[in-house]
Amino acid sequence: RTYLDWNATAPLGAPARAAMMEALLLPGNASSVHGEGRAARTAVDKARRQVAALVGAEPVHVTFTSGATEAANHVLTPEFRMGRAPLKVSRLYVSAIEHPSIREGGRFDPADVTEVAVTSDGVVDLAALETMLAAHDRSAGMPMVAVMLVNNETGIIQPVEEAAALVHAHGGLMVVDAVQAADRVSVDIAALDADFLIVSSHKIGGPKGVGALVSRGEVLMPKPLIRGGGQEKGHRSGTENFHAVVGFGAAAEAALHEFGDRNGRIAALRDRLEVGMRERASDVMIHGENVARVANTSFFTLPGLKSETGQIAFDLEGVALSSGSACSSGKVGESHVLTAMGRDPKLGALRISLGPETTEDDIDRALAAFGKIAGRRKLTGEAA
Ligand code: PMP
Repeated sequence: RTYLDWNATAPLGAPARAAMMEALLLPGNASSVHGEGRAARTAVDKARRQVAALVGAEPVHVTFTSGATEAANHVLTPEFRMGRAPLKVSRLYVSAIEHPSIREGGRFDPADVTEVAVTSDGVVDLAALETMLAAHDRSAGMPMVAVMLVNNETGIIQPVEEAAALVHAHGGLMVVDAVQAADRVSVDIAALDADFLIVSSHKIGGPKGVGALVSRGEVLMPKPLIRGGGQEKGHRSGTENFHAVVGFGAAAEAALHEFGDRNGRIAALRDRLEVGMRERASDVMIHGENVARVANTSFFTLPGLKSETGQIAFDLEGVALSSGSACSSGKVGESHVLTAMGRDPKLGALRISLGPETTEDDIDRALAAFGKIAGRRKLTGEAA
């Protein structure tokens, strides 16, 4: 089998596996004061430093959660605290290409969530965002804006710094979903000028079911989503998912040290893939090829091939890839990202995403499958 769906999830990497095996033998609760508890606390603190380093943050600003989806539901709320004083956010602006965990708007009433368009290139429309922010009624509360750093379907890098400058000029809060960016481009919360960043362990070689909400400071914080024993400085109660947190930390450290070297190799593999697809089907459309993209993602349409049929056909050839929209729940539907880019979503699209363990052989097997599938697709109309 050839696994080319790293944006859906990355297989557990060796550093995370080794760290977790050790952590499994530690008996303590990180909140206990005895030696066993302190040993667990030390391991959690180490992971906090490792995750913080990956995104240029202070360890105290990292809150572990059950994943990026929980972090999004935590931070996307109208209720904030500035120190002890309550602070109201009256409207959430989300780019039209956000992952559903952001697009659903977290704890905001759906009527208080507005979508920001993207251009036909798949990049968030900053002029549209500025117009919306200028029209925002600040007497009702602050605006909050969520723009992802890297889109999970297209791999297109979004102009987060520019968006953040607009948001801050209008007295708003900037939330950045860095889930698909964290081991593909360098991520620095201060350089991005983000107030909050969201990261997920399982996209960077760590275990599934753990992620983090990272804040820029400690003063301005969202109302907790999960209340109870006050773990994570009261921001997220419940005994930490200790083994997973430790694995996440190890994966973050490995990602930070290795991604520069990996990316050149991954970019060469993706080029081999895209050149090879063009040789086998000159009408293949590669979405986002003319704008800045991360090195590992290729999102393409083969005219005449539906997403669902294509995904199954590749699977039967032993190649695991994804249709753009099937990131979460096994749904194979139309891509909201393609729709937002003004493309006909009925065209269908497939996503191949590579990772640090992808080899030339994997690419060649994918190309062999691509050649077969492209050759036998049922063409209609002009595409022939
Ligand atoms: N944001 C993006 C961009 C994603 O790709 C994903 C995972 N598909 C998520 C958020 C959700 O992450 P998690 O699985 O950790 O909840």
